[in-house]
Amino acid sequence: MIIVLKTAITDQEYDKIKEYIIDRGARVHESKGIEKSILGVIGDKRDLDQNAIEAMPGVEKVISILEPYKLASRKFHPENTIVTIKNVSIGGLEPVIMAGPCSVETEEQIWDIAREISEKGGHVLRGGVFKPRTSPYAFQGIGEAGARWLGEAGKNYNLPVISEVMEIEDIEVLYPWVDIFQVGARSMQNFKLLKALGKSDKPVFIKRGMSATLSEFLMSAEYVMSEGNENVILCERGIRTFVEFTRNTFDLNIIPMVKNLSHLPIVVDPSHATGRTDLVIPVTLAGLAAGADGFMVEMHPRPYEAFSDGNQSLNYAQYSDLLADWNVLKEGVLKLRTKKNEVLASNVPHYKS
Ligand code: PEP
Ligand code: MN
Repeated sequence: MIIVLKTAITDQEYDKIKEYIIDRGARVHESKGIEKSILGVIGDKRDLDQNAIEAMPGVEKVISILEPYKLASRKFHPENTIVTIKNVSIGGLEPVIMAGPCSVETEEQIWDIAREISEKGGHVLRGGVFKPRTSPYAFQGIGEAGARWLGEAGKNYNLPVISEVMEIEDIEVLYPWVDIFQVGARSMQNFKLLKALGKSDKPVFIKRGMSATLSEFLMSAEYVMSEGNENVILCERGIRTFVEFTRNTFDLNIIPMVKNLSHLPIVVDPSHATGRTDLVIPVTLAGLAAGADGFMVEMHPRPYEAFSDGNQSLNYAQYSDLLADWNVLKEGVLKLRTKKNEVLASNVPHYKS
């Protein structure tokens, strides 16, 4: 339920409405717009009388929300969410560049890659130390030592760092070293993990499960947000289809769809979406043109030697090619993003009851 407040609402009227909701066991989510403010109501609404709320002074109208996700919905929060990590913003005008190896392998490897990213251009350093592998015999990740190497390399080159947590215990291990917690596709519906991350003060990057619907994807974000952590970034990394020439199928449609339905940033991961180095550049550009708030790519100085996902990793020359192509596209994309932001600002709040 969303309560749209009158522009001329007094502080007493505002407090009365909040009190009415909280007294009846529901929670209030406040969103102050430039023109108007709204109160989102979440939780148990059985004792709330919609007509009574509508009749309260200061209320313009009450709108029911049919979607199961509330905090992640653009109806609850009309403006884009911008997640800020140190010197990097995700969800703002400029799309974010996230890059790094699939797995942290050695201290030298991650330092070398971090240097490359900082010299060539890139904003966030990625690297897995706890790896969810299909085979129990495959490399499972370097573990805690790798987290330290990753964190120190990131710090040295002024790049915020992201790494995957596979279970609740990993949160504590990674906490001193990473700036963003990644939830992998296979963990997207590990609800206990999502709840635990919801209590963290660090942003959470949720990768879409390989067979997750849009609604399930947004409900995973809702799990994190409902525990108090609203710094959530979504990531499209390809889904399972009958297509056999790529590892997964990149779902381009979900980019503009998420932007319509949610205020959360969404980033594309063409490495896992395609599983093929030769497709990474075109798919990245397509994602950015469709409105993605950034991209995450796997890169390695010698992909043929990588401990994992070498066949979808860019080498340094290919990474440069990607950045050069992105620079060609960037001017147009920034113009489109500016236009979209202006439309959004002029429509806030944009309710259709
Ligand atoms: C990864 O980012 O290396 C990874 C394992 O991704 P996903 O969870 O999307 O498969
Ligand atoms: Mn990988």
